[in-house]
Amino acid sequence: MTAAPMVKGWCPGAYKPMMSVDGLVVRIRPRMARIEAEQATGLCEVALQYGSGHIDLTNRANLQIRGVAEADHEVVVARLGALGLLDADPEMEGRRNILVTPFWEGGDLAETLGLELLERLAELPRLPAKIGFAIDCADTGPLLTQDPADIRLEQGADGLILRAEDCPAGRAVTPETAIPALIEMAQWLADHITPDARRMSAVVANSPLPEEWTAVKASAPATRPVLGLSPFGALVAAPFGQIDAQALLACFATGVKGLRLTPWRALLLEGGQMPSGPAFIANPADPLLRVDACVGAPHCASAHAQTRILARQLAPLSKGRLHVSGCAKGCARSGTADVVLIAQGDTFSLVKDGRVSDTPVKTGLRPTDLLTGVF
Ligand code: SF4
Repeated sequence: MTAAPMVKGWCPGAYKPMMSVDGLVVRIRPRMARIEAEQATGLCEVALQYGSGHIDLTNRANLQIRGVAEADHEVVVARLGALGLLDADPEMEGRRNILVTPFWEGGDLAETLGLELLERLAELPRLPAKIGFAIDCADTGPLLTQDPADIRLEQGADGLILRAEDCPAGRAVTPETAIPALIEMAQWLADHITPDARRMSAVVANSPLPEEWTAVKASAPATRPVLGLSPFGALVAAPFGQIDAQALLACFATGVKGLRLTPWRALLLEGGQMPSGPAFIANPADPLLRVDACVGAPHCASAHAQTRILARQLAPLSKGRLHVSGCAKGCARSGTADVVLIAQGDTFSLVKDGRVSDTPVKTGLRPTDLLTGVF
């Protein structure tokens, strides 16, 4: 019998993994959205030896190995630690919830501020595990505005700003005052969190920020780079954010120097060429890029369907954004989609232009209905 969707109030990490039907989910948080070639190949080997052979790229630009046996957890943590992928202190590991623009360059503001925040993690107050930060101040303009973070450092119209999530304006800061101001805003957030408002967007809805913290207008979001070759290397996507560890290993045999991770299911192969084969999406017009599907059956106890198999079949038939969800929890996408299919028993409900939580326009649809284009 399929279990009801489980709501978990914590973020799993390497030291505190989440148990799934197919084993533990061991998550690592790459520092500065980057790992060296040696770390990446070591991670692939761990995924192949102890996990399912796949590495998930999450919407916080983290990496996770699925399918780890409980008995192997200790050795997996030791291997990841030896690769320099974990903090020695699990508490600091838990606080390192930082999105960094993947297009920082050595010595630029994003690198300087990202490294300073990593050094000063211990000065942050205790916050709910899901609270995150974004260092989004590279020359590209803000690239992470649609990605999850409660407190953001961005290039505003006239310089660096510190901005609370969901606020159209922020506080003017300098490279010297940016991280102290971020710590101050984190303390303000910690002081205003309530049992019903545990993220910045909910907190600012109840408690206005100090006036000077919303004095400077934010810049318009920058356009995300498309897949392809760039001066940094090859930007490719992983279908559904699932990276084939064997295929990634093969990339490193061709001279890739490191990996940059994005929260957009794409990764940058530093110094690499565009790979071929089904493990990566290299074509920016690939319809799979418009599809979100959770891991589904048989990997999740709550799943009513093999979501990703169906999503691959439906991708070329769908025109807009498609979200296929294995149950009503909707893990793969919190935002709206043009078409949302929610598995329930043997059939699917259909929501148009909404989220899994919205009222369906049709229910009881069988996979054959969907494949014949009922939506
Ligand atoms: S949405 Fe998918 S992954 Fe999330 S709980 Fe439901 S079936 Fe599992």
